[in-house]
Amino acid sequence: MITEYAALNEENPDPEVIQRAGKIIREGGLVAFPTETVYGLGGDALNPESSKKIYAAKGRPSDNPLIVHICRLSDLDAIVKEVPPQTGKLAELFWPGPLTMIFPKSELVPRETTGGLDTVAVRFPSNRIAQALIDASGGYIAAPSANRSGRPSPTLARYCMEDLDGRVEMVIDGGQVGIGLESTIIDLTEGRPTILRPGFITQKMLEEVLGDVEVDRALIEPDSGKAPKAPGMKYKHYAPRGELVIVEGKCDRVVAGINEAVREKRARGMKTGVICTDETKAMYDADSVKSTGSRCDEQSTAKELFRILREFDDEQVEYIYSESFSDGDLGQAIMNRLMKAAGHRVADLDQGERLL
Ligand code: AMP
Ligand code: MG
Repeated sequence: MITEYAALNEENPDPEVIQRAGKIIREGGLVAFPTETVYGLGGDALNPESSKKIYAAKGRPSDNPLIVHICRLSDLDAIVKEVPPQTGKLAELFWPGPLTMIFPKSELVPRETTGGLDTVAVRFPSNRIAQALIDASGGYIAAPSANRSGRPSPTLARYCMEDLDGRVEMVIDGGQVGIGLESTIIDLTEGRPTILRPGFITQKMLEEVLGDVEVDRALIEPDSGKAPKAPGMKYKHYAPRGELVIVEGKCDRVVAGINEAVREKRARGMKTGVICTDETKAMYDADSVKSTGSRCDEQSTAKELFRILREFDDEQVEYIYSESFSDGDLGQAIMNRLMKAAGHRVADLDQGERLL
């Protein structure tokens, strides 16, 4: 398959390209497209064959459900059986935007799209290209992140091409995404509202509307043996090809520890990388030193993290050491992704743990 590549301006997306892309999806094909969170790999959510193609193109296990994207609140009713009472308030505040809600699904949604579940995850994205494409595709696009399974989510169209060239009909380039981490997923269908995946809409923002909100324990205690309620969270994710370790501890100890580990790896001919912040960037001496921005700027960290992980792959870095980030507010989502990317390898230098 030849993949068509088309660049669009979000302020004024070319209607001709949008119509062509919409037709591809209506006819059962796949289009990668920008959203405000990360790039999505879109197919017709109501067509089981399209969902099967999405799993095949990504190399994704078919029990890992897809998120259905809509472009009008009024389109929700047709795909859900029941709307939990707090939905209206959340939709009013956070839609269109980076929040996904779980609902009992209607008959219209095939089980191929929901990974066999009776529930469906729904999001109304704010990106204008995404909205126009959903509309042109018939209103319901199933879209996971547009990466091959296990790799960091794409925040630029060229990473969609890297992973999916020849596997999808079209890639739409809308520039670097604004947020850089996938949507927050909240489940309102059972008991206490529960965050199944942390994201840009934080626990604190949700608690202001809903009162107490839980975070799925399996996300906090990855070794507890409990299966996460968002089935996808159990899979290996976001991993760069090099070995990534998160380094915790007092700042000067972290800098010294990372530099020592880098020296040791370089002496053995290995290529090394460091993920740090503007405040410490000049203190590191590795083959590739990348800053996520200022340590105080969580939005910049979120936006740059996946791009940095991909760049280390491009540069064939073999050992990556990352500073740790605070886990409050947006930090909860950042650390969730970084921990998964590192396969939960953490060295706490204040506790005397060694990096080598
Ligand atoms: P991605 O599309 O790559 O952002 O991944 C979608 C995430 O949403 C995965 O972690 C899925 O397991 C989760 N998800 C999708 N549908 C449901 C659902 N019905 N219930 C729980 N989690 C879901
Ligand atoms: Mg994904």
